[in-house]
Amino acid sequence: MKPSLLSLPLFGLAVLLGLTATPAQAADSVNLYSYRQAFLMKPLLDAFEAETGIKTNVVYAKKGLVEKLKAEGAGSPADVILVSDISRLVELETAGLIQPVNSKTLDANIPAGFRHPDNLWFGLTYRARVIYAHNTRVKDGEITSYEDLATPAFKGRVCTRSGKHDYNITLLASIIAAKGKTAAEDWAKGVKANLARRPQGNDRGQVKAIYQGECDVSIGNTYYMGKMATNEKNPEQKDWAKAVRIIFPNQPGAKGATNDGRGTHVNLSGAAVTKHAKRRSAAVKLLEFLSGDIAQKIYAEQNFEYPVKTTATWHPLVKSWGTFRADTQNLREIAKLKAEASKIMDRVAFDH
Ligand code: FE
Repeated sequence: MKPSLLSLPLFGLAVLLGLTATPAQAADSVNLYSYRQAFLMKPLLDAFEAETGIKTNVVYAKKGLVEKLKAEGAGSPADVILVSDISRLVELETAGLIQPVNSKTLDANIPAGFRHPDNLWFGLTYRARVIYAHNTRVKDGEITSYEDLATPAFKGRVCTRSGKHDYNITLLASIIAAKGKTAAEDWAKGVKANLARRPQGNDRGQVKAIYQGECDVSIGNTYYMGKMATNEKNPEQKDWAKAVRIIFPNQPGAKGATNDGRGTHVNLSGAAVTKHAKRRSAAVKLLEFLSGDIAQKIYAEQNFEYPVKTTATWHPLVKSWGTFRADTQNLREIAKLKAEASKIMDRVAFDH
């Protein structure tokens, strides 16, 4: 039946009120603010649109999205925010910028430890912050813990990116949580004293420095190993990856005087529905989709991350690095120690 001129405004009103039956009509788009990069999100969002008919509009940025959300208040166009660090999730929660979502699908897909206790935010993938060690210059069992990085045996052998980068701040916060402020400051001082060069570049840059013989060990996130090892665009990165192996620090049973076996520090990427979301049901559908089988597989394959859904398979390369025990300290509590960790990095003048 052809729509008559009279029925058109009524149809428009129904869409506005979200009253129509099919999902595409009820809410045919959703707006995202994303700290996660376009190369990763594009295939996920295309798959989401193919399954639900819901289009996505994305603002990508490296910085400032939380501030933008705050400044826009109730007028913000954003329905969903995507982040790649637990401290951002806690920041959103603390600033009251997100709303709870009760969904059986999200509960079933995401283990409780990876989501907010009152369902304000949801972890979608996790990554471990590990030690990259040169294949031959670092002997088997020579380094088994984060604490080893600060021991005299590693004098002049350590490379890392800035101590003020979120990844390192959150790692230091996990050390405060495990050992207290004083021990954490001693650790930061000890690592600084062992640096082969001033902190600079990104996680991959440190592996390049190991490859070039500037240092023997570095701190980095796991997925970068996958990105280097398979990099067709910059094939020299394959050589960097070949020069090193991944060591999961603080594993129980691994030998070493400083290894307490508390597990390797992991961080979460995740998402939340904004407090003033105008397309809430589409936003929830997107979160559910991102936690489901199709999306979890894309995350694992595109970015070599660990999917939060326990039945999702890991990328073969990720599997080849082995299984590990993750630090089970509460990630929200760790994130709350970030300000303290940042002060410690300043006090020890880590980057200078
Ligand atoms: Fe990263």
